[in-house]
Order: sequence, then structure tokens, then C-alpha cells
Amino acid sequence: VVRERAILGACALVAFSFAQSAHATPIPRYQMAIAHPVAPVAPLGPSLPLAENPFSTTRVLAADTVLTLDPVTGSLDAHTALTIEAESGSVGQVSLLVDSGLSVTAATASGNTVGVSDTPYPPYDYATLVLATPLSAGQQITIDVSYGGVLSCSGGASQAEALCYLGAPLAYAMEGSALPIMVDQDGYGGWNVWGAERSVELHLPTKTGAIASGDLVSQSDDGTSAVSKWSIPGYLSLGANVLLMGDLGTTAVPGASPTTDVYTVASAPKWSSEWSSWMQKILPFMEAQAGQPLPYSTLKVMKLPLGWTKIFRGSAGHALTMLSEDYATPDADYFEETLAHENSHQWWGVLVSPTDSPVARWLSEGLAVQSQIDYRAQKLPAAERDAYLARRYREHWILVRYSGDPSLPQVLPSLNEVPIDTVGNTLWAYIRSSALLEHLRVVVGDAVFGEILKQWAGTCGKAVCDSHDFQTVMETVTGQSFADVFAQFVFDGRALEPALGFSQDPGGTTISVTASGNDGTKLTLELFLELESGETVKQLVTFDGSGSVTVDVPGPVRRVRPNPLHDGFVWSRSAVDEDFDFDGEVDGLDVIHAAWRLGRVADPGQPDGEGVWSTELDFDPRVDADGDGKIGDPDLTAVSQAFGNVKEAP
Ligand SMILES: [Zn+2]
Repeated sequence: VVRERAILGACALVAFSFAQSAHATPIPRYQMAIAHPVAPVAPLGPSLPLAENPFSTTRVLAADTVLTLDPVTGSLDAHTALTIEAESGSVGQVSLLVDSGLSVTAATASGNTVGVSDTPYPPYDYATLVLATPLSAGQQITIDVSYGGVLSCSGGASQAEALCYLGAPLAYAMEGSALPIMVDQDGYGGWNVWGAERSVELHLPTKTGAIASGDLVSQSDDGTSAVSKWSIPGYLSLGANVLLMGDLGTTAVPGASPTTDVYTVASAPKWSSEWSSWMQKILPFMEAQAGQPLPYSTLKVMKLPLGWTKIFRGSAGHALTMLSEDYATPDADYFEETLAHENSHQWWGVLVSPTDSPVARWLSEGLAVQSQIDYRAQKLPAAERDAYLARRYREHWILVRYSGDPSLPQVLPSLNEVPIDTVGNTLWAYIRSSALLEHLRVVVGDAVFGEILKQWAGTCGKAVCDSHDFQTVMETVTGQSFADVFAQFVFDGRALEPALGFSQDPGGTTISVTASGNDGTKLTLELFLELESGETVKQLVTFDGSGSVTVDVPGPVRRVRPNPLHDGFVWSRSAVDEDFDFDGEVDGLDVIHAAWRLGRVADPGQPDGEGVWSTELDFDPRVDADGDGKIGDPDLTAVSQAFGNVKEAP
């Protein structure tokens, strides 16, 4: 089965492109942001009609909405009580973004007069609320805003970029459509409801099912309306806040903690029993990895219908995980690991939300991909784990080597540099990022890396953290500096293709290992030293630029190769051309290695491709001497000509 390339890129915490820029850009309150500086961005674009005298800074304390909605017609009537506080300076106005089919009809505030101006800002209505008497620093006010109309749910280029979808049997709405996004105009983050306590009381036609991000407060149906109320405590979160409405069926997840229910469209319950069984394994796995349980009374897990990758692919918000059935297309195992990915976002994205997320994905999507692959790997016997991981990250190597850009930092210098094409964005956000995390795990070791993840979740859950804090956690746990690692690989990027060679005196108890091609890069690798005795010794070494290190060995050494788990990020090769097994010679084994790969190509989407992107995982970039992405006759010629380049007998 030829799988679609985009299927991995699709499983974003929040959808890419417009919805990404409109919804996911996380900006904390001003003082916190100052402590964790991120370059100012204008996520809504240069045409946003900012007021002449924008806020200095504003904090949104609470947004409580009562919403009456027909999820089939989109007819909507709503009231939001918006509590804001002036953080500093003088706060004269606040703006809201709602669906372009809606408009603000009234706004009042006790002790103040509120003027309203509505401006079309497709796909939004952009409503500015002007206070006759501006707030001074420390002052709070609650503005009661009425808005209504008919949801248009129009997106950008496609429905997948819209923030809502109407109809039966399932409709959805995100913030920015039926629920408002707050715009604080401070020029720092542009908009912000981050950290606010939020609630929604949802009034739907009778017998309409509903689930929403948040904790369920109450639920009733009086035969006229189905009413449910949901609340989200105030904390900084990247989580997507979503309303799902329609004809819903439920399956319990026995024994799950927290209490977990699987939801589907009632008429399409396929996979619900599998999901129930998978969630029984995913939750303890993730709880162990993050070192803490989910702080929800109930977790809701919604299977979005087949075909919904074109509408809304999945996301995670407070106590709600969603994933489209389209992810079942490759196979059930992939569906299961993708469900693990999406649920891992409850930690990596919802509860722990790095504030540099506008320009970085490695601690949300990168960690989620790593968790997803780890989840899949732990289903195998322990002895097979590392080989399985190496094969998975081999795909990351091939993808970035031939289709990606290794020079992109994990934390980009500005929003303008975030790749906007789907493939480029996916290779940066998911593939290169998780390969770096895997490289770091080898450097510090499995147990220590596990402790780093627990401390990251423990100290940064519901807190204000960014990539610098992840560095601090790594340094706290290991007692070592990671300044070079972060400077080189997180805040900068580069292709790492060191050539490794070694020499050993006859009978010597040390070897000299030389790395070249890594000038100016401090690089730590775990080496597998294969002894003539058949034993393999593991040794961590650090090359400070190109050069040699001396390593103690218990006997004669046959091969010196890096742990293959580095390969996703560090594309090492032997210092001897055409030596694929790192013994420093080009012998029959190398010729066989190359010949067996004749005809294989690096492009994803291969008919028998084993990788997530249907990449041919037996393709070996080391054999691709001419770098054309194919193992062809010129590559075989190269190894044939080098054949016989052997070490002299000692
Ligand atoms: Zn994701």
C-alpha cells in the first residue's frame, strides 16, 4: 500500500497553516514573556487593523461564554463575560476574533462605557471594544459582550484551514469561530487568552450530544435544549479548545486513570473497542514517561470520522484528545501509535506548553513523535527495542538527508522562517526534531533521559517554560553543561556528517578514534567498539571539532561505529570511502552490502516502503556515493574500485 506522505504531517497538535497561526501561537502574560523572551511576532499578519493607541499590556483573567448554537445551520447567539486586567500602562481597548458570519451586537461594563467597532478580517470578524475610561495598571474590568449571527466556517484555501464545521452527524468549532479569541494589541503577542480561566455553557437542540475541551461541570436535557457546561482552569497552554457536537456514541475504557471514555459518531463506532483497549495501554505508558498522571477528572478521546483529515485531523486540548479515523488507513498498528502520539500531547503541548512554540516544535511535536515511536517499540521484546528504534530513525535520516533542511535550528530566529510547505514543516517540526531528541537520549543514556522527561513534565507542567528551561532541566539532571549542544543544534542547525576512523597498535590497550568533517562542532557520540573477540564495548566520546580521542580497550578492535540510534541526526560514515561496516577496510562484506541494495531509492512513497512515509528502509545513504538518492551502477562501481583497500596486517 502506498501511503500518503502527508499522513504523518497531519497529526499536528493543532493543524498547520492558518489555523496554526491563528490558534496555536502561545503568548503568555507580559511579565512571564519578558522572563522568557521570544521575538515579537504578528501572528495575524500585517493587515490586522490595530488601533492607533494599542494596549501596553493586558492580561485576560477569565472568559465565560454562554452559547446557543444550532450545529447544523450555524445559527448562534452568545454572551461572553471577559475579565481583563491592565498589567501596566493604560489599557483602553480589547479586541475579539470570531467567525466572519458573526458580529458583536453589544458590549457593556459596570462603571464604564464600551464602544464597539466591527471590522471584517476574513475568516474572522474583528471586533474592537473601546473603554471610555481606560484602565490603569492593576485595574480589572469585566466586559459583557453579546455576539451572534450564522457561522460561515470558511477557512483559507481549504476546509481543513477553517475553525469550524457544520452539519450532522458531527460538527465542531474552535476558538476564533463560535468562541472568541482575545486580541490584546500589545505588539508582543498580538492576541492572548492564554492563562485565562475559561468556561462555556453550551445550549444545543435537544438530544444533541456534546463534548468540549475542559472538565464537565453539568449536563442536562429538558426536552427542548441539551445544555452542558465545561470549564478549563487558568494555565498557560497550547491546547486547542474545541466543541464537538452531534450524534455521539461512547465506549468506556475499563480501569483507566483518569476515567476515560472513547467517543465516536454513534452510527460509525468502528475502532471504538480497539481504542478502548489501546487507551488502557497508552495512558499508563505516557504516565510513566511523563512521571505524573493527567490532572483531569475525565479524559475524553474522540475518533473523528473517516475523511476528516480534510476537515479537522485531530488535536488535543484540556481533557480532550481527537484523532481522525483516516490514520487507520496504513494499518492498525500505525493507528494505535498515532493515538499514542495525540494523547502524548496531553503532556507534550497541553500541560507543558513551551512559550517559544511559535518558532519551535521540538518539545511538542518532536517529543510526541519520540513518545509515539517509543510506544510502538515497547510492544516488542526488550532485546529488539534498539534495533527497532534504529530502523525507525533511519527513515528520519533518509527523509532529512534527501528532502529536508538540516540547517534549520529547532528554535527558529523568527516566525518568518517557520517552513510553510507541508513537507518542509513536517521534516522540521516532527522528523529532524525527534531525531535530535533520540541523539540526546543516546548521549545521556536511557535512564537519565527518562528522568529528564519526568523533570520537564514536573517542573514545566502548567508553568512558563521554553527551550532554555529544557536545557536547564538537562543540566540539572546530568550535572553537565549542554550549552554547546543547545547553541549548535537547538538554536542553530547544521548537517553533521563526520567521517570516523581508528587505529590501534598491535597488542595495544588503547585506540585512537579520529573524526573529520565536524570542524567547529562539539560532538558527543556513543561508539560501539566491536572487538576481535566478538564482544562489543560501548564508549561515549566527545570530539571537540575534527580531531582524535584516545579510548581504552580490553583487546584488539575490529570495528568502531557510532550507535545507530545517532544516525537519524548525525549522518556519520567511515573515514575510508566505501567502507560501510566501519572496519576501516573495503572488503567483500562492503561489496555485498552495496550490491544487495542495488536499485533502492531514497524517495518516500515506495510501493513496498516500510517507513511511515513508505520509505525504503534498506536504502543506505552511506552506499549512495554519488548522492543522487539511488543505489545505482555508479555506486556499485565505486565500491568495486575501492575493493581491496585493506589494512596491512599488523
Ligand atoms: Zn502532534
